[in-house]
Amino acid sequence: MNRYGMIIDLNKCSGCYNCFLACRDEHYGNDFPPITLAQPFQGHFWMQMIEQERGKYPKVKVSFIPKPCMHCDDPPCVIASVNGAVYKRPDGIVMIDPEKSAGQKEILSSCPHRVIFWNEEKNIPQKCTLCAHLLDQGWEEPRCVEACPTGALLFGDLNDPKSEISKVWNSERAEVFHPEFELKPKVKYIGIPKRFIAGTVIFKDRDECAQNAKVTLTGRGKKQTVRTNNFGDFEFEDLGEGEDFTVKIEHPGYTSHSFKVQTKLDVYLGEILLKRSSRK
Ligand code: SF4
Ligand code: SF4
Repeated sequence: MNRYGMIIDLNKCSGCYNCFLACRDEHYGNDFPPITLAQPFQGHFWMQMIEQERGKYPKVKVSFIPKPCMHCDDPPCVIASVNGAVYKRPDGIVMIDPEKSAGQKEILSSCPHRVIFWNEEKNIPQKCTLCAHLLDQGWEEPRCVEACPTGALLFGDLNDPKSEISKVWNSERAEVFHPEFELKPKVKYIGIPKRFIAGTVIFKDRDECAQNAKVTLTGRGKKQTVRTNNFGDFEFEDLGEGEDFTVKIEHPGYTSHSFKVQTKLDVYLGEILLKRSSRK
């Protein structure tokens, strides 16, 4: 028996919305009973796209996070439903029965990821089915995975040790989105955005970008060093949230600078002016 999973590599996602459009193309106007009925014209995002902006001007980064139903192993939507309206198939897909779920609007608020949508016209809750109607016909992947031009969506059988997804699933790279929900999802992510610390170093006496300054980040018992680029910019990525760090900037002939920084948010230290050190 297959046990399906998906890994979404955010480092590869360009935010093109092809996955969302493929889902819409498959499900808008098409009934697939008993798996699901057609999506309505508006208001449903079975493959949602979160556009996450980080930092502030002039250092702003945008990450795209496609978010389907996570097909959890401990799904509160199943518990919230009455009469077995939401159930988990042996292959791991969490399904909403379009007949049994009629009128059960309260199922929507049971999902902390908010990926269940209400179909007003049909009076039913609906969400991503991983295109189970296609998998049951022998398709190897859902429409969103097939449509992704960058290979950001990896889908397959977690029970097959030779499958691509099995090789990555239990590695440190594959992370759970919102692990605090404790739902044991069957969708994982690579490259979930963390915090960054960045800055721009300037030689005050010359009013020029300070290229090749040494910038050292210390914190959590670790030390990393980078060099500023042609524009005097430096950056440390993938830092934990709410942690304390020290940033030290050094360049021969100039007085070094140190900053205490907390990563509650992403941090841009702005322009840091290096003064010439006084001669002895
Ligand atoms: Fe249910 Fe939400 Fe988990 Fe999907 S992500 S299985 S809707 S709890
Ligand atoms: Fe990202 Fe692929 Fe979806 Fe495009 S189709 S938004 S690249 S996951």
